[in-house]
Amino acid sequence: MKAIDILNSHSLKRTSCREGIIDVIMITNQALSENEIRERLSGNYDRTTFYRSFKTLEEHDIIHKIVIDNQIVKYALDTSIMHKNGHAHFFCNECHMVQCLESVTLQNVELPEGYTEEETEIIIKGTCAACKK
Ligand SMILES: [Zn+2]
Ligand SMILES: [Zn+2]
Repeated sequence: MKAIDILNSHSLKRTSCREGIIDVIMITNQALSENEIRERLSGNYDRTTFYRSFKTLEEHDIIHKIVIDNQIVKYALDTSIMHKNGHAHFFCNECHMVQCLESVTLQNVELPEGYTEEETEIIIKGTCAACKK
């Protein structure tokens, strides 16, 4: 799937900044922080353009946010196009990379009466294959 197809499937207008953001995340194959995405963009976009494009992608669930320990915020491409369920994430304690574990889906948890679920986040922390070598 290409960036343009993803934008089309969400009826979003194609802009080079939106496409660029999607491409960057797709190529890297791991979650990136806002700064990391900005640094890797080939085009030069001002802050406002970048921020707006970024927000649009987030609002349309094309990218999703992953927060580790209330400190590290990274974004990954949302795979809900293929997988409807939420999924767990892996965090490497050594290199701080974050990756979606799409095969580890979040099942519906049964909560006590009167409780409402707002967010469920499962982060598995450990050492990634590259760091283990
Ligand atoms: Zn690592
Ligand atoms: Zn994810």
